[in-house]
Amino acid sequence: MDVKALGWDPLTLGEIDHRDVCAPYVRLSSYLEGAAGDVTYVYDLRVTQPNNDYLTTGILHSFEHLLLAGFRKYLPESFVSVAPMGCQTGFYLILQNEGRFEEVCRVYRAILDDIVTAGEVPYASPDNCGQAVHHDLGGAKELAQALIATEQQWGQVF
Ligand SMILES: [Zn+2]
Repeated sequence: MDVKALGWDPLTLGEIDHRDVCAPYVRLSSYLEGAAGDVTYVYDLRVTQPNNDYLTTGILHSFEHLLLAGFRKYLPESFVSVAPMGCQTGFYLILQNEGRFEEVCRVYRAILDDIVTAGEVPYASPDNCGQAVHHDLGGAKELAQALIATEQQWGQVF
């Protein structure tokens, strides 16, 4: 797999020292090639600086829902999953057969633009969510705005 041709820095693949990174960034952390030729890509959408700052659980939770709705909307053919990091500093994104840096960032940006103008948190009802009262749409919007302002540095992990 030529990750460089997909737009990624090969040096940022795999385990990295969290003291060396500079958030926010978008990183390809690993990939898995299946026997039939399909490729599963795992990304870090790192949002806050590790061991220095973290998201409140309300923002983390609402942002998770908003990202879920966004990736389903923009990448229905390749989106597998998005989930919050337990350290509350970002999200894991899993895509099938979409490994291009430019495309991942384009979609991420489109989703962030949608979040800024969102009128509600999607799936935030008791039938869809395990803690439907625990959301912070205002905080999620502020976070989206802040991330948009840093778009030019998303490719810079270190
Ligand atoms: Zn939920």
